Amino acid sequence: MDLEWSAADLEFRDEVRAFLDDHLTPDLRRAGRLMTSVYSDHEASMAWQAILHERGWDAPAWPVRYGGCDWSLTQHYIFSRELTLAGAPALSPMGIRMVSHAIMAFGTEEQKDYFLPRILTGEVFFCQGYSEPEAGSDLAALSMAAVDDGDHLVVTGSKIWTTHAGEANWMFALVRTSRKERKQQGITFVLIDMTLPGIEIRPLVMTSGEQVQNQVFFDAVRVPKSGVLGQIDDGWTVAKYLLEFERGGGAAAPALQVMLENVATAAASQPGVGGGTLIDSPLFAHKLADARIRTQVLEIFEYRVLAAVAAGKNPGPASSMGKILATELSQTITELAMQAAGARGRAYQPHAAVPGGPISEYTPPDDGYVSGEPWQAVAPLRYFNDRAGSIYAGSNEIQRNILAKAALGL
Ligand SMILES: Cc1cc2nc3c(=O)[nH]c(=O)nc-3n(C[C@H](O)[C@H](O)[C@H](O)COP(=O)(O)OP(=O)(O)OC[C@H]3O[C@@H](n4cnc5c(N)ncnc54)[C@H](O)[C@@H]3O)c2cc1C
Repeated sequence: MDLEWSAADLEFRDEVRAFLDDHLTPDLRRAGRLMTSVYSDHEASMAWQAILHERGWDAPAWPVRYGGCDWSLTQHYIFSRELTLAGAPALSPMGIRMVSHAIMAFGTEEQKDYFLPRILTGEVFFCQGYSEPEAGSDLAALSMAAVDDGDHLVVTGSKIWTTHAGEANWMFALVRTSRKERKQQGITFVLIDMTLPGIEIRPLVMTSGEQVQNQVFFDAVRVPKSGVLGQIDDGWTVAKYLLEFERGGGAAAPALQVMLENVATAAASQPGVGGGTLIDSPLFAHKLADARIRTQVLEIFEYRVLAAVAAGKNPGPASSMGKILATELSQTITELAMQAAGARGRAYQPHAAVPGGPISEYTPPDDGYVSGEPWQAVAPLRYFNDRAGSIYAGSNEIQRNILAKAALGL
C-alpha cells in the first residue's frame, strides 16, 4: 500500500479545495461544525447533497454506471478528508452508503432504476427499520409481522430507535414473513413507502435533548411486494450484506483528527491544576497523545479497508473492527473535550430551553460565557451522543463476538 501522494493526487486535492472554497457556504460550514453526532442538521445536509450532486460527487464510491466516480483509492480518501477538514455537513449514510449497495446487489432492474437516481437527488430519503423493542442485538428475533396478501404484505408491529424516521419518505425494513426452524429464516427485506396509511411515528428524546430517533408503529400497512429486495423469507442474506456497509467503508479518522486538534487548542487556554495550562498537565498530555496515536492507527486501518472496497471486495469482519476502534476513540476524545471545555462544558444546554429542538437554531452568545467556538458549544451534546456510539449499528460487544467468530475462528 502506497501512502505517498503523487503530483496528480495533490492536483486533485487542490481541485477539491477550490470546489469547497466556492461552494461550501458559511452556513453549511457552520452546520458541519455544529454536528453533535454522525449526522448534520437535516436541511443543511440535503442542501449540501444537492450541491455535490450537481458536481457528480455525492456518491463517489458507487460504480460509475450508477453515478459514482472513477477515482483511485487515494482520491476517495483525499475527497473524504478534505470535506471533513473544511467542515462540510455529513450526508446521511442510510441511502448513499447503506441501502443503495443492497439495491445494487439484490435489486431488480426496476428497483435500481427507480431508487438509485432518486437517492442521489435526495428525492428518496431512507431510514432503517431493523431494531424492535424485543430485537436489538439479537436482531433475528424480530417479529414485526408481514402477512402475504396477493400483491401485498400486510405489516403490523413496531420498529424502534429509527433514526430520521420523521424526515424519511422510505424505510428499508426487516419483517417476519414466516416462522421456520432457524430464526434467521422467514425474514424478508422490504422497502416501505412511509406515506402509506397506517404508519405512525413517535419521536424519542435522547439524553442530549435531541430528537432524532423514533418509534414507528405499523397498523395493517399494505406494502406492495414490488418493494421486496431479494427473496421473500431470505431477507437475512440481504441484511447481513448491508450491515458490513453500515459499519465500515467510511473514513472516521479525519473527523476525529479535527476534534483532537480542537481539544488541543482549547486545552492550551484552559488553566491546569497547580499552574500552567491543561495541555501542560502530564496526565492530560498523555491521554491526548494516546488518542492521537490511536487516531493514526485508525486512519491506516481505514485506508486498508477502503483499498479492499475499491478492489471490489466488501468490508467483511474488518467493518466490526473499524466500528469498535472509531466509536471507542470518539468516546475518549469527547471525554477529553469535556475536560478541555471546563466550566463552559456545563453552560451549553439548549435542550433545557428547547426540548428536542434542532441544534441549528442555536447561536452561540457573544458575551463570551460560552466561548463562541462552535466545537466547544457542542462538546456536551457530542459527549452525550457519543455514549450511544458503542450501542448503535450493533453494540461493540456484538462486534467483538463477530470478530471472535469470523476473524479468530473461536
Ligand atoms: C443513537 C441510536 C441510533 C439508532 N438508530 C437505529 C436505526 O436507525 N435503525 C435501527 O434499526 N436501529 C437503530 N438503533 C438501534 C441499535 O441498533 C440497537 O440499540 C442495538 O442493536 C442494541 O440493541 P438493544 O438496544 O435492543 O440492546 P440489547 O440487545 O438489549 O443489548 C443490551 C446490552 O447487552 C449486550 N448484549 C446483548 N447481547 C449480547 C451478547 N450476545 N453478547 C454480549 N453482550 C450482549 C449489548 O451489547 C448491550 O450492551 C439505534 C440505536 C441508537 C442508540
